Amino acid sequence: MRSNAFGVRIILSDISGGPAGVSAGITETADLSAPSLTDSLPFTRSKEAKTPVTKPPKTTGSVTKDTMSGSGSGTGAKSPLIDQLLQGNREFTENDFNKDPERYQMLAQAQSPGVLWIGCSDSRADPERITSAPPGELFVTRNVGNIVPAHDWSLSAVVEYSISHLKVQEIVVVGHSDCGAVKALDKDLQDPYIALWLNDAREAKARVDARISPPKTSEEIKERTHQIELENIRLQVEHLMTYPFVRQAVDEGRIGVHGLYYDLKTGSLSQVV
Ligand SMILES: [Zn+2]
Repeated sequence: MRSNAFGVRIILSDISGGPAGVSAGITETADLSAPSLTDSLPFTRSKEAKTPVTKPPKTTGSVTKDTMSGSGSGTGAKSPLIDQLLQGNREFTENDFNKDPERYQMLAQAQSPGVLWIGCSDSRADPERITSAPPGELFVTRNVGNIVPAHDWSLSAVVEYSISHLKVQEIVVVGHSDCGAVKALDKDLQDPYIALWLNDAREAKARVDARISPPKTSEEIKERTHQIELENIRLQVEHLMTYPFVRQAVDEGRIGVHGLYYDLKTGSLSQVV
């Protein structure tokens, strides 16, 4: 166990079973200057992953009468949950913000985070909370299944900005237990967007199923799921390393790339890659 730059204890348990380093399994480098949205992804994908499950549904842009009761494009209706957020913010300003004006006024001028956190959107895996990170330390992007596709402009821009402009020192891809995205890999999804999005994680399932016997007991089923969660972290780190500017920054020693796993049952964060 060691402390990182802001004193967070990270358990350096070695979860073996996959590539030892971030470069394992990478055979070629992507040219993101001429990206394609189809089959030109630089990493190996299973046959299953190359075929989109369904096409995205068409959107009409129409708004029903019920959704136009308020101002702007939102509903504007009163909501107990929104009130709860606003009340929570009042508590934050009173108990935190106003008690450390120097810090927050400095942050109001500029940010200088040390870590880019690529995590799952899961509500139970909140980066700042589970690492006790101070405000301004983590540059965060989250999506369903902590996936790093080569063709996602949002994620690409986040990674590029964090390396080229924010000069982060570390990038972490963070998965977690009981991940709905991993569980969904075994389902015949009727949700077109989710199914398409998960294509970039299917290789993790294929790898695990290729190296273990089909699970029979409930314990074996749980263990398989756990192995896929870990493999998905390794896979997404590999995807990340196919970005030329990430590879270059790693080779020049400007950043480190890691994979972490958060256990919801114990609250512990451990290093996978
Ligand atoms: Zn998840």
